[in-house]
Amino acid sequence: MARTYAIRTFGCQMNEHDSERIAGLLEADGLVPVEGDDDTLADVVVLNTCCIRENADNKLYGHLGHLKSLKDRRPDLQIAVAGCLAQKDREAIRERAPHVDVVFGTHNVHRAAELLQQAATTGPVTEILEETVLEDREAFPSALPTRRDVGYAAWVTIQIGCDNKCAFCIVPAVRGPEISRPVDDIVAEVEALAADGVTEVTLLGQNVNSFGRDGAGQPRPLFAPLLRAVGAVEGIRRVRYTSPHPKDLRADTIAAMAETPTVCEHLHLPLQSGSDRVLAAMHRGYTGERYLAKVAAARAAIDDLAVTTDIIVGFPGETDDDFADTLAVAAEARFDGAYTFIYSPRPGTEAAERVDQFVDPAVVSERYERLRVVIDRSAQAAYAERVGRVEEVVVEGPSRTNPDLTTGRTRQNRLVHFTAEPLRAGTLATVEITRAGGHSLRGELREVLAAPRHRTRIPVVAG
Ligand code: SAM
Ligand code: SF4
Repeated sequence: MARTYAIRTFGCQMNEHDSERIAGLLEADGLVPVEGDDDTLADVVVLNTCCIRENADNKLYGHLGHLKSLKDRRPDLQIAVAGCLAQKDREAIRERAPHVDVVFGTHNVHRAAELLQQAATTGPVTEILEETVLEDREAFPSALPTRRDVGYAAWVTIQIGCDNKCAFCIVPAVRGPEISRPVDDIVAEVEALAADGVTEVTLLGQNVNSFGRDGAGQPRPLFAPLLRAVGAVEGIRRVRYTSPHPKDLRADTIAAMAETPTVCEHLHLPLQSGSDRVLAAMHRGYTGERYLAKVAAARAAIDDLAVTTDIIVGFPGETDDDFADTLAVAAEARFDGAYTFIYSPRPGTEAAERVDQFVDPAVVSERYERLRVVIDRSAQAAYAERVGRVEEVVVEGPSRTNPDLTTGRTRQNRLVHFTAEPLRAGTLATVEITRAGGHSLRGELREVLAAPRHRTRIPVVAG
């Protein structure tokens, strides 16, 4: 019987995509996914970690504690810890959890299967590389075998690492400097995905608008031409991307979005704070006013654009006045939604040193709630405004909370639950919107526009 594996992913889309690659590598090595939802039945458990906020660390050690008793009973169980926290904490993980078999970081994901084999014969292995080896095309996540859970949609990494120095952020320390992937490779991967029936791609990078700038003197297309090239690949119906940095969002990207019909009308533009003083302390490189001007320019050029954001509450030194500026910018930006975070000091980052300026947690929670009210108000207004319209949706499958309903996603990335006969995931349809909630819409199927193009079998592709 083939050995089984389970991967538990914490954190962002980059990590989810890395997990797809780890799954692809393990399957190429003869393992099969464990059946059902119970990870603990697997022969190999991989925890792909995140270290952006503190609760991610706590979650990891909670899981490792649980796996320890399992491994006491089943010594053949192999446990691997991968990802950003592994890159950051290295030996600390082994010290706190000696039952872990393999620790590997963000620069050697491609070694997952070999390291597990090695550990089976030689005992526990820790392999953390300091940086990605440039010549090694395997360094780019999408160049590895991938096991996608969703047949119709795929992530495509266009850039790894980050060259910015946002004072709160651990990403540059754990993902290394920015490296852009060659345009031809990206377009070739999207063509291969389209040939495999994928109709929606999401381009991934920490600062996609600086794509290509690390080209070492090579004249390379930047993000806007890339968006146009990917958007023109035959068979691709929807292109999304995340994340652009407001300081680098330029008119050419906005024009490429407006002029490429496949690029969705959704801009996720992380604000972080609305206070110029805090933005400067964060080293974000823009002011509240400049941010709003970019949002206005994007809305003016792109019809029916949804704008979402990330905001941090309680950055060290944030005063009541600073926070009032954040509320004011958020209200003016009329966000369709936001990921709101409580500032979490990350050891090794500049802001984590400013212990004397940490904001009282009670003040932070109160600010956090006030921000949520402002965000929810504009989100609800944006959702309510859809009632009566006919929206194009891509079907995701039966609704998780009510199997009588089908769930789809609009071009603006809004969820719609609607009544319809069962439709396969990836079906393109139109839905009339009948009701709006704060985070989703309700509707009725109008018309099926196109069937999905992928086979039902879950494909394993090599880039
Ligand atoms: N590269 C993206 C950008 O520049 O906006 C962000 C990537 S980060 C994975 C996602 C979000 O996590 C950030 O936008 C920020 O709001 C949040 N974040 C990062 N570090 C944080 C920290 N120390 N405490 C709280 N939130 C944090
Ligand atoms: Fe972190 Fe800033 Fe880079 Fe985003 S741009 S990953 S927030 S350092």
